[in-house]
Formats: sequence, structure tokens, C-alpha cells
Amino acid sequence: MDYKKYIADIEGFPKEGILFRDITPLMADGKAFHTACDEMIAFAKEVKACVIVGPESRGFIFGCPVAYQLGIGFVPVRKPGKLPRKTVSVSYDLEYGSNELHVHADGITKGQRVLIIDDLLATGGTVRATMDIVKQLGGEVVGCAFLIELKDLNGRAAIGAQTPVKTLISYE
Ligand code: 5GP
Repeated sequence: MDYKKYIADIEGFPKEGILFRDITPLMADGKAFHTACDEMIAFAKEVKACVIVGPESRGFIFGCPVAYQLGIGFVPVRKPGKLPRKTVSVSYDLEYGSNELHVHADGITKGQRVLIIDDLLATGGTVRATMDIVKQLGGEVVGCAFLIELKDLNGRAAIGAQTPVKTLISYE
């Protein structure tokens, strides 16, 4: 499927100099959304995922349908102050400042095969932090899936060559 026609390119959002890839037209098209989720489901089967881990908030949009279809769990990755119970967290640097991501400490069990799903791979900071949390909890990241990859930002280097990556759309 030509997914790109369902992505809106928004210049200057959320601030000047940024070209934002808006996925909401794809989500609003039943066939495109369904097909994209199906591709991620096929990948999740291929890597034998036992649980899906998704960063807020757009990781939920693709992660939950995959988990639902396979009858496996979904574990949210959230910004500070959002999860009500004991968490494990990782901080990572952004271009300006830093960010912190949390997962419930009992969200992943030792040896669980984890597939991380998010809407977009840019620098890889978000997925790397997520991978580090999964590791801390004793899980095994068996793959990462994204709707979109921004190739020039080289997020795959942050993931590492050993981890299988699936992306449905890429921009140079
Ligand atoms: P990274 O940590 O790889 O640099 O950035 C990826 C994260 O930022 C993802 O969680 C994604 O939701 C968000 N993100 C960054 N740029 C964009 C964009 O242009 N479009 C969308 N939809 N999300 C973005």
C-alpha cells in the first residue's frame, strides 16, 4: 500500500524548522490503518513477541491493536507522573534538555519477548530509552516496529544491528 499519501507533511510544527509527519489521516482511513496494523501483526508473529511495549502517546495507537489481535499484553511507556504504581525509569537527552520515560516495575517479566511499537523512528532516543527500561526489567527486545522511519536521523544506530526493525514508510 502507498501509505505516504495518508501522511500529512506539516511545516513549522510544533515549532519553526520542523517538518512534522502527521499520521492522523492514515488513522482516519479504515483500510490504510487496518493494513498498517496487519503488517505490524505479521512482524510481531515473525519475532514471536509475547508482549507489546509502546511509548506514549502514538505508540498506543499501533501497539494496542497488535496486542489485541494476538491476544497478548500491552505495556505503556509514559512520561513522569502518569503511572500510579512503582516504576522503573530512564532519562535521555533531547536536543534541548532531557526527557524521562517510565514503565511499571511489574510490567514486564524476566525473559519475556518484547516487541516495541511506536509511530515514528527519528533519532532513536525514545526507542533506546524504552529498550533500556525493558532490559532493566529482564525482558528481551526481539524487535522494534514503526509506521515511519526518518532515515537521515539514523535511529537504527541507536537500536543496534542485532535487533530486527520493521518500518512501513521511510523518508530520506
Ligand atoms: P526520536 O526519539 O526517535 O527522536 O523521536 C521519535 C518520537 O518522537 C516518537 O515517539 C514520535 O511519536 C515522536 N515524533 C518525532 N517527530 C515526529 C513527527 O514528525 N511525527 C510524529 N507523528 N511523531 C514524531
